[in-house]
Amino acid sequence: MLSKKMEEALNEQINAELWSAYLYLSMGMQFENTGLNGVANWFKVQFQEEQAHAEILMNYINQRGGRVLLKPIAAVDTDWATPLDAFKATLVHEQKVTAMINNLYSIAEEEKDYATRERLVWFVNEQVEEEDSAQELIDKFTLIGNDGMGLYTLNQELAARTYTVPSPLSAE
Ligand code: MG
Repeated sequence: MLSKKMEEALNEQINAELWSAYLYLSMGMQFENTGLNGVANWFKVQFQEEQAHAEILMNYINQRGGRVLLKPIAAVDTDWATPLDAFKATLVHEQKVTAMINNLYSIAEEEKDYATRERLVWFVNEQVEEEDSAQELIDKFTLIGNDGMGLYTLNQELAARTYTVPSPLSAE
């Protein structure tokens, strides 16, 4: 059985993951509109990943006999001047998500909820990857600067990204 405090905190995280999904979808739509379909693809895959993060938490709450309560999703930005700006915003956002996951982990420890703590380990590791991939793309877009050929090539590289079902969902 989940404690009320743990259940509420997990529900907050579901909202944060869905907000992330909405943010990346917004980025995807902007870059689709400006013709950078590869960049748009990267964000649309990210949109799917964030929905999966929410789904993992929803499944977990249900498994523990808790109640998933979906809250309103706040508005997201709609304009980023360049892909570099969008990836910088992505990194800042993912750093906030990391802090939220760490806070959830602390609550699980305080509540002596070791099952939740174990479930959160996957998210702790996932955040390392999220921050790393955002940083990698910041580096790449910084490197190409205003070079059109560089942008063309990087856009194509990002077009190749495909969605993979995260292990906690594929194992079920
Ligand atoms: Mg996430």
